[in-house]
Order: sequence, then structure tokens, then C-alpha cells
Amino acid sequence: MTKEIAHAERAHALLSASASHRWLTCTPSVRLEEQFPDTTSTFAEEGTLAHEIAELKLRKHFTEPMSQRTFNTRLNKMKKHELYQDEMLKHTDTYLEYLQGLTLSLSSAPYVAVEKRLNYSTYAPEGFGTVDCIIIGGNTLYINDFKYGKGVPVSAEDNPQMKLYALGAYLEYSLLYLIDTIHLAIIQPRLDSISEYTLSISDLLAWGEEIKPIAMRAYNGDGDFVPGEHCKFCKAKAQCRARADQYTALADFTSLKPPLLSDEEVGQMLEKGAYIEAWLSALKDYALAECLKGNEIPGWKAVEGRGSRSYKNIDEAFKHLQENNIAETMLYERVPLTVAKLEKQLGKAEFRSLLEEPGLVVKTSGKPTLAPIGDKRQAISKPDAASDFA
Ligand code: SF4
Repeated sequence: MTKEIAHAERAHALLSASASHRWLTCTPSVRLEEQFPDTTSTFAEEGTLAHEIAELKLRKHFTEPMSQRTFNTRLNKMKKHELYQDEMLKHTDTYLEYLQGLTLSLSSAPYVAVEKRLNYSTYAPEGFGTVDCIIIGGNTLYINDFKYGKGVPVSAEDNPQMKLYALGAYLEYSLLYLIDTIHLAIIQPRLDSISEYTLSISDLLAWGEEIKPIAMRAYNGDGDFVPGEHCKFCKAKAQCRARADQYTALADFTSLKPPLLSDEEVGQMLEKGAYIEAWLSALKDYALAECLKGNEIPGWKAVEGRGSRSYKNIDEAFKHLQENNIAETMLYERVPLTVAKLEKQLGKAEFRSLLEEPGLVVKTSGKPTLAPIGDKRQAISKPDAASDFA
């Protein structure tokens, strides 16, 4: 993940690269967002910490050789963070190993920059951002982005965020290096995903020219509101009228004739409705926040949710129970780890040799489920299962 999300506290550009997928489609969104405060989340803070660990490792390896002692002191400081988890070390290693492999595959020593701030304002007004790692080797400029999220794998193919960074990097380095190829890589170790994409410098520059007028419209707040999947990261996602209109337009279907929907209409309705849940949840979050502020949302109010009970001090409580003759067997359940948890504990290689290879793990196929056509899994057809559903 590059820095707009990870380093939420940093100043960021109005036309940020990480939000470019949105502002290139819905140009007035960035100006509309200005009236909303910046927010952060535990996931974003966790990403920031993982990035800091990755940055330290990259600096030690590529750009700022440091003693093991200095490295450990810095790392130990990060380990004290409340969101620190041991798996951050493993995932940042995967990222570092990818970059090491890349640099070793080059025929001469490459140029490497870590956490490089880039300016792409030639293409998008006042545009700048910080890219995780730049490598220049031969005639290729490598833009590398570490994403710590584990939601969905992000593809590097034609990724506008990556291409904006590539434009910024090209502007910065083209006087010093002869660059004819751009290689984009998004490394998402928690999803075992490394997505790579290569394009020529002429294609990149042509794309830059194409987006110039769109970026200008976005900067000026001009153009039409265009709702879509990109709305989920927009600060206006709850109150945006264009987004609400998209969903209320579902009512149009009631006038469809004949009385039964065709399969084509079913497909259209599912597509239109796919984001309703996220939209309703954004609306609820907004309405709850307003009610808590004391503002009125007609027909709704904030109430206490269902509480839960927990031990004040579990060690003390259990000691007290045992002193009062409650057997230990009543206090604990011995539960085997799930296959996924055990694989995480043992590591993939040991799990494979101890359990998979001797045939001690069986894999059953999941229940058929409906997925959008763009889903990477292969389509299946099971007439028997279809009659069960019917
Ligand atoms: S919610 Fe969607 S449609 Fe509305 S401004 Fe944001 S990106 Fe555009």
C-alpha cells in the first residue's frame, strides 16, 4: 500500500494517487469530500506500522546500511506499538525477498529509492505522493507497492495509482536514466498475491495526456457524479445524492413487463443491488453519528446496544473458582485447531509434509455460490444442485 492510507497523518494531495480510481471516474467527488473530516481506522494504523517495519528493512538492505544493533533498536521500538503482531515480520520479509529477487535478477547494480516522494502535478494539478520503493535497472523503471490489507487482491494491471507514481518517477529520473519500460508491482503478502504489469513509456505518457483534462475537471470540481464500486472509499458515501439515486432507481424495475423477470433482468437487478448493503451500512453509520451528536434524523434514534459480560481479571476469577472446588475440566474446553489455524501455526511447508502429503487432510468443494462474471473462479454447472435450490 502506498502512503495516502498508510500514512494518513501526512499531508496528502487533493488529487491523490490512491483515490485516482475514484476521481478519474467521478470527477466532482474530491471537491465534495472537502467538507468531510479526515478519518482513520485500526486497519489503516496497522498498515502504517507494517509499512514502517518494511521501510526499516528496505533501508537497511538497500540504501542505509546500519548495524544489526541499530536495526534491532529501531525494530524493538516498533514492536512496542499496541497494534504490532509477529506476522508483520513474516509479511515484510516476503516483500523484501521479492525486491531482493528483483534486484538480483538485474545485470548491473540498480538504483533503489525507498519511500520516495514524487510529483506528478504535470498531469494532475498539485498531484504528489510517496511510493514505497523505486528501482531503476537497465532501461526499466520498477514501481513497487506494498499493501498490507487482506481484503481483496489489488491488480497492478492498468492501475491508475501505480501509473501516476510511474509518471512522477519518470519526470524525476528521465534526465538521469534512459527509461523505456515501466514495471508495476503490487505485493500483498497477506493474500499471497503479487500482481505485476509491464507497459512501455510511450503508453504511459499517452495515458498521462489522456487523463490531464479529466484531472483538471476533478481539480475544479466539474463533471458528473458517477456512482460505482469506487464510492465505498468516498467520504460522501453516505449522503451522496447520486449514489442514493442509483439505488432508489431500483423502483424502476417494478414497471417492467411482462410480470415475470427475464434472466437478463435478474442479472441487471443483482448487479444494481450488489452495493446496496454497503450503502445502507454507510447510511446507518452516518445517521447514528448524527443522533449521537444530538441531531435529529426523523424516525430514528440512538439507543444502548446489547451489552456483554467479561471477566474483570480472568486469572483471579479462575483461581477463585478452583479454590472453591470447581474442577479445572469445567473451566476449559480443549478444542482442536482448525485446518487454517494449524497451517498458520506450522507454516505452509511443515503443514504440507506432515498433513497434506500423507493424505491426512481432505478437501471438499464448497457450496455453489453466485459470483459476478469478473470473479476469477471458474464457472461451474451442476444441474442436480440447481434442482435442490429450486
Ligand atoms: S459517493 Fe460515489 S458518486 Fe458520490 S461523490 Fe463519492 S464517488 Fe462520486
